Amino acid sequence: METRCGPALVDPGMHYAPSLLALLRALRLLGIDPGELAYVAATHFHVDHLTAAAVLREALGVKVLVPRGDLAEVLRYEGGVEGFIRDTLELFTRHGMPQDEAKEILGYHPALRAADAYEVIAKEAEPLAPGEPLPCTDYQAIPAPGHTPGHLIYTQGPGKPALVGDTLLPGITPHVTLHHEDTNPLGDYMETLKRLEKLAPTPALPGHRKPISSGAARARELLLHHEERLQEVLGILKQLGKATAYDVARLVKWRTRYDSWNQYPLPERFFAMGETLSHLRLLEERGLAEKMEENGVVKWRPT
Ligand SMILES: [Zn+2]
Repeated sequence: METRCGPALVDPGMHYAPSLLALLRALRLLGIDPGELAYVAATHFHVDHLTAAAVLREALGVKVLVPRGDLAEVLRYEGGVEGFIRDTLELFTRHGMPQDEAKEILGYHPALRAADAYEVIAKEAEPLAPGEPLPCTDYQAIPAPGHTPGHLIYTQGPGKPALVGDTLLPGITPHVTLHHEDTNPLGDYMETLKRLEKLAPTPALPGHRKPISSGAARARELLLHHEERLQEVLGILKQLGKATAYDVARLVKWRTRYDSWNQYPLPERFFAMGETLSHLRLLEERGLAEKMEENGVVKWRPT
């Protein structure tokens, strides 16, 4: 179906009343009647970027465009996003996260409380593929996997503005986790950063916080951060000899306001675990670490 031209939204936010109210008010401030929206597009499937699209779809019939990779690999995953998160937590427990922690995380995880919204989007959304334009604009989708498998960014070309979603964020590092052992999301993410360094979006318009004046400089900083983190994770592995990802995660010097692992709330542990696993997986890919299974628990050691 042809897309009608008109105002469009990228990453409308969360299907949460205060967030929706703020969005509708902002549109009106810009003189846009929400009923005029031609389409809503997303950079990736995360709950805080995409789920408001379900409400806009149901209320206004607006067309929803979702990156092809995230639509196929996550939203239409067996059991939907909930199944995807459950399988990720099962992976985390195989890598040493205590069962009761994983169970509690399932209870709080915002994506699981968005099942209705994701159901609408999985059914109604149309895929947007790398190389395609955002309809009626001169922004083109380019692949930017890592933060999610199918993440896309939308760019006007080298040195020009780009909507970078959660690939580049100012002041904080985008989260990179592991969902399946046969993937290498941090490797993918570092390739994405190299691509962004070349593309040099000016400015880079991120999914959180303020615009980044030099996308290339931020991409370089993030590449350096992950090389340093890889060295840190390898150093901990050498110190422990053989350890689960969970044991490694406890020793990484995360930038957080908590003094010790025991004080970390469960969401922080969930993020720390995912980050550690994505770094271990890339160390494995580089031939610097290997894993083995002992009584159903996966342990890592330096090679
Ligand atoms: Zn995100």
